[in-house]
Amino acid sequence: MDDCIFCRIAAGEAPAELVYSDEQTIAFMDINPATKGHALVIPRTHRKDLLEVEEEELAAVVRTARRLAKRALERLGADGVNLLNSCGTAAWQTVFHFHVHVIPRYNDDPLRLPWLPKPGEPAEIAAAAAALRS
Ligand code: AMP
Ligand code: ZN
Repeated sequence: MDDCIFCRIAAGEAPAELVYSDEQTIAFMDINPATKGHALVIPRTHRKDLLEVEEEELAAVVRTARRLAKRALERLGADGVNLLNSCGTAAWQTVFHFHVHVIPRYNDDPLRLPWLPKPGEPAEIAAAAAALRS
């Protein structure tokens, strides 16, 4: 995928602040960090999104993400971490090479939940549950 920026980073053809790499994954800093230490983990192989990534690669990406989460807590003094994946334009995906955001969280950081928690309609919840179950 010559036109994929993350493939180019994985191939060493585009600049990135690399923080981790192994056989299946690499991790590098996000150039638009949500907080200090915001990193991205990708499979080396081009996969468009969550649904296209192989299960074994997905497991490898999650392993790397957890490793970085631990480092954020231990080395950056983070108080928590969010892992985030956006699958599809409607879900804010902008780079179509599967990636997991590792976003260190700090007690005083400015990030807020992107939804307003309020009780849902029980019938609607149950209907969605039934669709997901079957
Ligand atoms: P998403 O919106 O989930 O697809 O996230 C894509 C992320 O990639 C955004 O947070 C961008 O800031 C980040 N990004 C885009 N291009 C680069 C790049 N060349 N190096 C590092 N991060 C990038
Ligand atoms: Zn790619």
